[in-house]
Amino acid sequence: MEYPRKSYWHYTAEGIKRPTNQAVELKDRKFDVLIIGAGITGLTTAYLLKDRNLKIGIIEASEIGYGVTGYTTAKITLQHDLFYDYLINNFSLNEAKQYKRANEEGIKVIKKIIQDNNIQCDYKEQDAFVYAASEDEVKDLKKEFEAYKKLNIDGFYTETVPLPNKVYGAIGVRNQGQFNPLKYLYSLYNILIENNCEIYENVRALNIEPHNNHIDVETKAGTIHADKVVVASHYPFDNSFGLYFLRLYQDKSYVIAARTKEEAFEGMYINNYDPVYSMRYQFSDKENLLILAGGNHRSGEKDDENESYKELERFLKNNFKNPEIVAKWSTQDCMTYDKIPYIGRYSNSIDNLYLATGFKKWGMSHSAASALILSNEILGIGTDYSKVFDPFRFTPVQSSKEFFSSVKSIASGFLNRLSIPYEGLPDLNPEEGKIIDYNGKKVGVYKDEVGDIFCINPVCAHLKCALSFNEAEKTWDCPCHGSRYDIKGNILEGPTVHPLDKIKIKK
Ligand SMILES: Cc1cc2nc3c(=O)[nH]c(=O)nc-3n(C[C@H](O)[C@H](O)[C@H](O)COP(=O)(O)OP(=O)(O)OC[C@H]3O[C@@H](n4cnc5c(N)ncnc54)[C@H](O)[C@@H]3O)c2cc1C
Repeated sequence: MEYPRKSYWHYTAEGIKRPTNQAVELKDRKFDVLIIGAGITGLTTAYLLKDRNLKIGIIEASEIGYGVTGYTTAKITLQHDLFYDYLINNFSLNEAKQYKRANEEGIKVIKKIIQDNNIQCDYKEQDAFVYAASEDEVKDLKKEFEAYKKLNIDGFYTETVPLPNKVYGAIGVRNQGQFNPLKYLYSLYNILIENNCEIYENVRALNIEPHNNHIDVETKAGTIHADKVVVASHYPFDNSFGLYFLRLYQDKSYVIAARTKEEAFEGMYINNYDPVYSMRYQFSDKENLLILAGGNHRSGEKDDENESYKELERFLKNNFKNPEIVAKWSTQDCMTYDKIPYIGRYSNSIDNLYLATGFKKWGMSHSAASALILSNEILGIGTDYSKVFDPFRFTPVQSSKEFFSSVKSIASGFLNRLSIPYEGLPDLNPEEGKIIDYNGKKVGVYKDEVGDIFCINPVCAHLKCALSFNEAEKTWDCPCHGSRYDIKGNILEGPTVHPLDKIKIKK
């Protein structure tokens, strides 16, 4: 399968991962624990269970590293924008303490895994900063700093940071970290293989069927049985339980890796209000690169995604002397409406089915915190900081406006097995995609660089939302839940588990 864009991490981690388990028959295969999804959440959960005498299986819909973890900016921190003052005010001090503790423990897990296994992933301890990009924002930093004091976060306020853009103040948290996420992920994969975990790539879970004392997971390679199942698929793909499609949305950001003439600065930085610019350098023995991210918007809601890259490039050129762009990519993360992830049981009515999602672009520490919470749950051990993440918590701050906007854009018409005559096609430029009206039906049409034309039914196979064409990446994107397809209708990203209907062209 072809992916729209590889990140810098894909190029630099190539060669670490061992060969894959291929072409398997999984019919009636039994596991004590089956993990769906081999991103950082799935693999860290498997790692924490590997010495517990359990038969562990992991299935991955595509290749390891092609989920969000392969496209992140990889700051490992418990500083999640300005968040702790919000938590104390909208939840409670106790819940804020749980949130902080979980992420603190998560960071310790990542550091310990790297140390114990001597993983070469360019890990570097760094302070993390949220900076004020205007005078008005300083008061919010000060409130957040007060929250740090209540929570014993090892933070500090400063007026000077080494950023090239104008900054009015910043709050820092000491001793956080950064790494190359794919060098880490591929190393985890190798460790799990050595420890007899069975990992299967290109096996997509299609459906989950709970029974009294086990769970069946349907795949094209056969139905797998497991005592316990962890859904670590980023977006929970099965809609039968939990109504996650109403309780999550996806938000997108764009990333540029660039060589700069300026000396690399220490620290990891982000501001809190739009336009958001996240910056840090990636240090390695070969070279130091600036990792700049921003251009955030709700997935599928930007008319021209190229504009997000252009905005980042403008910021880069205005603040650095003759920077050289090495790689550009984009990705999206799941967001909950109260801003706290869902970590725990997938449904109140099903034992032994778990999930972790909604990391709101802070998934490094959260993935390891999830791995701790879920592995403890599987082993029957309580965790005293898990309650705040309960997927079925009562949430006082859910905004009904945002909530209902996740069910808009439901496509009205189905259009199966249609074919379209060549004369019915519009005159498109190379690499242009468009939705056209053909005899009252919508058709998604794309012309590639050599003039071949591909037509699809532009209705998401997940929950029938109308798709839009992403000009920047040449993909069909779902604005409701974030599923993405290539120009031929093949799945690039879930939650969908089915490709798009292809529409034939009659010559
Ligand atoms: C632009 C951006 C920058 C970010 N930067 C940071 C940062 O600096 N620090 C930080 O802490 N967090 C950051 N994040 C968030 C973080 O990257 C993610 O939260 C985290 O990587 C999610 O990991 P995951 O394992 O849950 O998901 P993924 O890495 O997406 O893994 C899920 C896997 O499940 C597979 N899958 C999906 N459906 C199925 C199925 N049906 N069957 C089988 N497999 C399936 C997918 O193919 C995928 O490989 C950022 C996010 C974005 C969008």
